[in-house]
Parts: sequence; structure tokens; C-alpha cells
Amino acid sequence: MEKYSLYSVAELHDLLVKKEVTPLELAQEAIRLLKEDKNNVLEASMEDEALEVASSLGEPQVDAPFWGIPVLVKDNYSTKNVESTASSDILNGYRPVFDAEVIARLKKQGAVLIGKTTLDELAMGGSGTTGHKGITYNPWDQKHERIMGGSSCGSAAAVAAGIVPFALGSDTGDSVRKPASFGGLVGFKPTWGRISRFGLFPFAPSLDHVGYFTRSVLDAALALEVLAGRDEKDATSSSRKVEKYSSSFSGVKGKKLAVIDNIVSSIKDKQNLNDFNSLLDKLVAEGAHINHVKMDAKLLNAIYPTYIVISCAEATSNNANLDGVKFGPRFGGNTYEEVMTNARTKGFSELIKRRFVIGSFALMKENQEVLFLRAQKARKLIVDAVNSILVDNDSIILPAAPSIAPLFHEDADKLSDTYLVADNHLALGNFAGLPSITIPLSIEKGMPLGINIMGRPFEEGTVLSIALEAERLTGLKGLYSGRDK
Ligand code: GLN
Repeated sequence: MEKYSLYSVAELHDLLVKKEVTPLELAQEAIRLLKEDKNNVLEASMEDEALEVASSLGEPQVDAPFWGIPVLVKDNYSTKNVESTASSDILNGYRPVFDAEVIARLKKQGAVLIGKTTLDELAMGGSGTTGHKGITYNPWDQKHERIMGGSSCGSAAAVAAGIVPFALGSDTGDSVRKPASFGGLVGFKPTWGRISRFGLFPFAPSLDHVGYFTRSVLDAALALEVLAGRDEKDATSSSRKVEKYSSSFSGVKGKKLAVIDNIVSSIKDKQNLNDFNSLLDKLVAEGAHINHVKMDAKLLNAIYPTYIVISCAEATSNNANLDGVKFGPRFGGNTYEEVMTNARTKGFSELIKRRFVIGSFALMKENQEVLFLRAQKARKLIVDAVNSILVDNDSIILPAAPSIAPLFHEDADKLSDTYLVADNHLALGNFAGLPSITIPLSIEKGMPLGINIMGRPFEEGTVLSIALEAERLTGLKGLYSGRDK
């Protein structure tokens, strides 16, 4: 019987400091749950290292909230001497010689890394079905008919199933915040530059963010204090001061929250809309002001195509180093061209190849103007529109996803409003690099729904404060899927 797995990081920290539990006991329990997992969350185990670290941590560190806490990390972060594949065959067997900065910071705190989690191959995708280890299931649906969502599927499923209280993901379009909605989790992506991306495998660096899952807003704030801050190894990381987010929550009284009405109206799910509106009423009762605004429909419909062109173009260029020579296995061939062609033909799945074809096409000299540069211009217009909403409002609050996690065979009509807008609006936070958090809203048919709160750059404190209040109002702190029998 598990004793500790449903505690939050903050609660476990208290128990550890009081010596009511040891890091080793926590690691052993998490490792056992990981072995019993039926949702396909694990890419690579770090069991031996975890047990060694957990046994040698010494005295509890009162000021280190992650000391002795078992954690999981998405397999697109470099972990020294531990296989790191980003769920792609082209990286099978690749063992980096260094730790990503976020991994180093977690280790320095005394966190116990117990393994690497599955993802959509190279973090491209949103279903949790395209990694080389197959489908990752949503633990909320014991029949295994609904997606976990991705790309950070393994990390999301592991936190939702109560294996660990914290797991690292990454977010280029919504890959933390969408699965968080489908898994009843807190999923947070702070401002672009707030957390170092050194050692995060690049997908589309102008959009890539470190993000993570927890089961409470307080834990999300604690994690930010540990992970944020300047890193000389990542020139895009900010040297702004890291705040004490976990002790400076400021409530919602007097805060202005914008609702983008024509994003909300693209959602058809009645319960999602009702629950969202009743949460808004409760926030108003606590002293928040809700301002209903609109964005140009053309800009909203441009989110998805703009995202696809920019992310595929950047992905094509940034993944050119996966040539079958520098990392991972050889796939045969006598010349460099043959080796590369074989590696990229056999090492990537269809989805990745399709995206590289789109990216190469957009970057071709004759297409650059009409595709790549046009997408950059569209991005600028979209970002300007979002930022103009945030001039008079402290945050933007929206349903995080159109519905509960879809069934595997449910194929969205990609030209419908519901898909173009309701399924893709979280990318606004990536285009503009804004802090953006998803938290649970309610439960529908036994599956969670989520809301998303976005704020101005580097105003993580505001976003977390609104999220904490919303978490109190929904009462859905520490949600947990129940475990597969
Ligand atoms: N679902 C988006 C995509 O398919 C987002 C991926 C991400 O954020 N890593 O690319």
C-alpha cells in the first residue's frame, strides 16, 4: 500500500524535515509505483542512481524544498550518463556527457531523479502516441481509450497517477499545459528566458520553454524558485531577480482578468463553458474584475498555420545535427550522405518526416517570403494583439482545452473553429513568451477539465496568485486519477 505518493512536494518536505520519512523510503515507493505503471510513462529508469542518491543525502535541508523528493523528467533533457532519446529511434543509446541546467539544479537541491519519461517523438505532437515506445495512456481512463495528450505525456501521466509529485516537461505549443488539462494537473510554463534551456533538446527555440507538472499551485511556485534564474550557458536566460513566489501570493482582489470571448465561443462543450463561467463568478465574488474582450478572428484562425510554419522551420534547422553520425546508433552506409540518409529514413517516424518536409519547404529560397517571413509577420500581429489585452488587464483566463481528453480514434476536423482556435490558443503563450499555467477546473464524465491563466512577461507572481485563488475556489487541489487495477 502506498503511503506517500499522493502528498505534494510541500507536504513531503515537511515530513522529510521532521524525519517522519526518509528520502530512501520515498524513492523506494516511487520506484515500485513506476514498475507497476500500466500507462507507459517510462523511457529510461534511473533506479540504481536514485537509490544511491537517496541513501546518501545526509541531514534534511530545510531551505531546499526538493531535497529528498522523487521526481521524473521528460526524456528530451540531457541527463549525464543516462540514455536520452527524446523517444526517437535516431537517438537510441545516446548517453549525454552533461546534465541540462534544470537537471543540475534539481540534483543540487537534493531531488532524487528516478527516471526519464515518454514523449511524442522529439516533442513534436500533442497526442502522446508517436514516441518510439508507443502510446502513453491517460490514467484517468482505466479503459485506456482516451489520450493523455502530449508531447509531455509520460510526465503528465506519472504525476496524474500519483507516482511522483513533480515531473519536468517542455512546452513549445502547449505540451505541458494541454496534457495538464487532460490529467487534472497543474502545468506551468513560465516566461521565455525565465528558466535556462541549456540541455533541453531544441525543437523550435523561439517557442521552446521549460515547463513542469505538479498537483498543487504551491508546488509550482516552489519549483520556480529552484529552477528559475540566469545561467551563463544559455544566453537567452534572464538575469532578472528570482522572486519568493511561494511566500508572496497576492490573491485576486482588484486584479483584472480578461476573457477572450471569441476563443471561449469556439468551445462547444456545455459543461466546460458552464463550469468556466461559474468559476468566473466566484472570482468576481472574491474581488476580481472580469473584462470581456475579443481578438480579430483572422488572427485567431492564423494561430495554427503560423505555429506549424514557424515550429517546423525551426525544427528542421535545429534537428539537422541528427545525421546518424554525432549521436545515437549508425544505420549503415558508406558515405556521409548514405549514412545520413539511412539514419534519417529509419530513425524518424512519419510525423517527424512530414514536419521536416513542411519546414524545408517553408525555408526554401523561393518560398521564404510567402511562408516563413509571412508567418513571422502573422506572429508579430498576434503577439501585439495579446500584449495589447495585457496593457489594461493583469491576466487572460480561458478554458485550457475544448473538452476532456479525446478518445484515440476521435479525429478533429482541422479546419473547424473548434480545432483552429479552441485546440490551439495555448500557443499564444509561446508566441509571446508569456507565463502560462493550467490548473484543474472540474470533472466531466469522470475526466478532468482545466483552465489556463496567462500573464505579462516575468509576472509569474500574478499568474500564480490568481491560480492559487482559483485552486481554492474549485477545491481541486491534489487531484489524482486513481490507479490502474
Ligand atoms: N502539440 C504541439 C505540436 O504538435 C505542441 C508541441 C509542444 O509543445 N512540444 O507541435
